[in-house]
Amino acid sequence: MAGDRARSRAVLAALADLAVPRECGGCGRPGTPWCDACRARLDDVPRQLSPRVDPGVPVWAMARYGGPMASAVVNLKEHRRRDLAPVLGRVLADGILSLAQWGDLPASDRLALVPAPTRAWAARSRGGDTVTALAREAADVLGGRVRVVPALVTAAWTRDSAGLGAGARGANLAGAVRLRRPLPSALVGAGAGPAVPVVVVDDVLTTGATVAQAVRRLRRSGAAVTGAVVLAGA
Ligand SMILES: [Zn+2]
Repeated sequence: MAGDRARSRAVLAALADLAVPRECGGCGRPGTPWCDACRARLDDVPRQLSPRVDPGVPVWAMARYGGPMASAVVNLKEHRRRDLAPVLGRVLADGILSLAQWGDLPASDRLALVPAPTRAWAARSRGGDTVTALAREAADVLGGRVRVVPALVTAAWTRDSAGLGAGARGANLAGAVRLRRPLPSALVGAGAGPAVPVVVVDDVLTTGATVAQAVRRLRRSGAAVTGAVVLAGA
């Protein structure tokens, strides 16, 4: 009996090793998917960014790009470490809570988080839309009446903006950000009470062009966009 139990435990441990990556997604330390040192380094205060392309709303980064944050984003997006989505989603949620407490964002229990658009094939090749996954994790932490509205899509003909300069990115994106479907009535003030405030979410901000296009498109549809949050500014 004891031998059976030991064997079952060994089998379960082996299965757990298969399911949970054994390297920290921030620093590569073995034995844990996310180590305490990386957790502490991401415990930062949000800071406002001044992107080259003005998005028309304040944009905040939750941490510096580099170190564990950069590794975690790359591991999530490029190496399909989906176990890092809750880690980074919590960083986003903590930042939104701080900003709401400071009065820089509306109350954090009634918000619509709209992920910045990703091109469909880019999302597929990266194993899903990671920005939407991050926003959902953040919404789970914030609870209440926080909802994720993946309303935006980038037209199929745009090129991947990675590697393009600010001007090229703007031209590449101009008119390319579209609504997947009409916005929910609560976001345009057509339901009961005032419109739910909208916050645009992205992973890493480089020039600001993507967030700017997203804000413009949402506002044109009647949404009350109050700000944008990103994990980090590159
Ligand atoms: Zn680590």
